[in-house]
Amino acid sequence: MSTAVLEFGNETTKGKSKMSEIVKCEVCGGLFNQSYLVSHKRLAHREKTANGAPVTGEPGAIDKILSLYEQLSNQGQKDLLDRLITMREKGR
Ligand SMILES: [Zn+2]
Repeated sequence: MSTAVLEFGNETTKGKSKMSEIVKCEVCGGLFNQSYLVSHKRLAHREKTANGAPVTGEPGAIDKILSLYEQLSNQGQKDLLDRLITMREKGR
């Protein structure tokens, strides 16, 4: 029903107070605040690079993750590392 869609839309635009929720970017696998993910995708994953090559491939992704990592606060960097370590341990 359209009313349900409208209610859902209102909920998301309000944004509540879940500022610190961390989500994974499905393009590069980086971890970001949910509120930042949209801008991250816009900035980091423009559809093509200047020479027309698709923005994919591990070396490019790692470079991007590292450059984004450098933009994090000390606490953000620590949280990210903790999460990466946790992910790796779970993946065993
Ligand atoms: Zn990304």
